[in-house]
Amino acid sequence: MQLSDQAVQRLRQETPGCSHVLHFNNAGAALMSQPVIDATIGHIQREARMGGYEAAAAQHTQLEQLYTNAASLLNCQPQEIAFVENATRAWDMAFYSLRFAPGDRILTAEAEYASNFIAYLQVARQAGVRVEVIPSDAHGQVSVAALEHMLDQHVKLIAITHIPTNGGLVNPAAAIGQVARAAGVPFLLDACQSVGQLPVDVQAIGCDMLSTTGRKFLRGPRGTGLLYVREQLISQLEPPFLDLHAASWTAPDSYTIRDDARRFENWESNVAGRIGLSVALGYAQAVGLAAIWERIQLLAQALRSRLADIPQVSLHDIGRELCGIVTFSVAGFTAAEVKEFFARHQINVTVSDRASTRLDMESRQLHDIVRASVHYYNTLAEIEQVCGRIEDLLRSR
Ligand SMILES: *Cc1c(COP(=O)(O)O)cnc(C)c1O
Repeated sequence: MQLSDQAVQRLRQETPGCSHVLHFNNAGAALMSQPVIDATIGHIQREARMGGYEAAAAQHTQLEQLYTNAASLLNCQPQEIAFVENATRAWDMAFYSLRFAPGDRILTAEAEYASNFIAYLQVARQAGVRVEVIPSDAHGQVSVAALEHMLDQHVKLIAITHIPTNGGLVNPAAAIGQVARAAGVPFLLDACQSVGQLPVDVQAIGCDMLSTTGRKFLRGPRGTGLLYVREQLISQLEPPFLDLHAASWTAPDSYTIRDDARRFENWESNVAGRIGLSVALGYAQAVGLAAIWERIQLLAQALRSRLADIPQVSLHDIGRELCGIVTFSVAGFTAAEVKEFFARHQINVTVSDRASTRLDMESRQLHDIVRASVHYYNTLAEIEQVCGRIEDLLRSR
């Protein structure tokens, strides 16, 4: 079921940013839709009129909707969802709840995100854990066969990024999930770039924990994120920090931790952001994740093939299945120069630097690369303009 041209036009009309910029930085922060903007600003206005606590109480039902909307999107239970301020903190709350002993092994992937890898290194130093990188296969995605060979009783966690920040790669999450389940090893999936971009079903993938952010492909407000933890695992995971929302102080010398995933939350949060994210989750589902994914792939494919026609452009995407994140370099120009040139023409792209996915970038001898990431509201005409600008830039030399 494809998004028709009329549907795309309507979605663009509901996205104020589309009339100001050519937004190819959806992997950084996508443009919010009008309903998300209205819901978020509406709540801040309610807070201004009524008082913050009173406004939250008045929106109790809408705030609970966040959990049911997230659960419906990810195919899980509302009590398996926690709201936190970003994907990194969601991931941290899961990761730092795990207890490691010297000699334990953590298996991760080559294109792992810097923040996650820094956390592995910290735990490696503190607890004597071994961090091992699963080799990639010939396509550049995690080798599931290699993963199977690495498993033994010391492996305590498989943690990978579904779609890395620096390119088109989509890792075979469901195949990894199958291996993890068969081995009884917890599987933590960084789905920051995949939720909202393609259908992500935690049952089909078989992950035990999943983190994502609001502002990227979900088109939610900044400063919002979600954590999913499988129900059977929740009671075994003691959060690295607790407060009076995550736990209750039941006697002068004791406390009880909540038994749902909200044990990973903290009490104070961006209530307007929660409401905006809830609307964004519903909006994504109404558009339809299968249709979103189909259109993103179509646009990304068009962008890659048009870029490939420019001899001075080299494309850097790897993988068997490619997503909406397109990375490239333009001969004779740094990635920052390309980004700045685009910015002067109201085109938003960003730069992926080596340190954000160091292992993958070093193995491919890449430093800074241009990242242009499409969403369903982008158009073929915009892609033509972007590529035309690259040709202008090349002619300027
Ligand atoms: C952006 C990103 C993150 C971090 O998300 P925040 O919401 O900024 O914390 C984590 N992993 C990947 C793969 C990302 O692209």
